[in-house]
Amino acid sequence: MTLLPPSAFAEFDAFTASLGSRTPALFLDYDGTLAAIAPRPELAAMPDEARAVVLRLSALCPVAFVSGRDLDDLTAMVAVDGLVYAGSHGFDLRGPDLRRQVGVEYVPDLDIADGSLRDRLGGIAGALVERKRFAIAIHTRQVAPPEKPRVADAVRAVVEAQPRLRMTGGKELFELRPNLPWDKGRAVLALLEALGLEGDGIMPIYLGDDETDEDAFRALAGRGDGNGIGIRVMDGPAETAATWSLHDPAEAAAFLGRLADWLAQR
Ligand SMILES: [Mg+2]
Repeated sequence: MTLLPPSAFAEFDAFTASLGSRTPALFLDYDGTLAAIAPRPELAAMPDEARAVVLRLSALCPVAFVSGRDLDDLTAMVAVDGLVYAGSHGFDLRGPDLRRQVGVEYVPDLDIADGSLRDRLGGIAGALVERKRFAIAIHTRQVAPPEKPRVADAVRAVVEAQPRLRMTGGKELFELRPNLPWDKGRAVLALLEALGLEGDGIMPIYLGDDETDEDAFRALAGRGDGNGIGIRVMDGPAETAATWSLHDPAEAAAFLGRLADWLAQR
């Protein structure tokens, strides 16, 4: 665990040296990584420049998005054809020749929790319940600070009544998902296998900004030294299993632009 890994942008030459001759396989989180966090999820648009860089990169190396968003929502927000998309934290995977869903048998449990969250949170201004196929997000960014503990209590009560679900957290949100040993890290490892990217010529690189992305950083670190790279988008020190950092989504897009230039020239 490091607190503030070196910048992959400021130290770009050292970063590319760690790639050697290998082709990157890019795994990108969306919110807080390539799109700035917004008051409501539907307002968190990816800048056109970032979209153009992703499109350019997709011609140079494999590119996948891995997000907590619902799969269709993520696909529409990124809006680049031909990529692999993993929604609901990797429970819902789709690509040009790929379709996999993990935890389909937990959908009825999520349906029950969804109804009960809407009942309990209906009276709290600003509490937003967002249903995804394999998860439920409860956004608290718009909730007045004195009311936030009430939201936390309500979510906890619902989770206690639903042992087949578990609660995770993020920036200003709670999330309920199937209580299965599955996360963004396992999804990335499954994608490497499914896409034939497990060989020595490939370097998996994961960019993400929050706790759920740490699962992916750890999964790549677990492949052994030099077999995967985690880059955390962070604006200050935090415990992370990533080995590189970037400051914010704008710098992440600039970094990917440099990476595309570098890949195109070598
Ligand atoms: Mg994120």
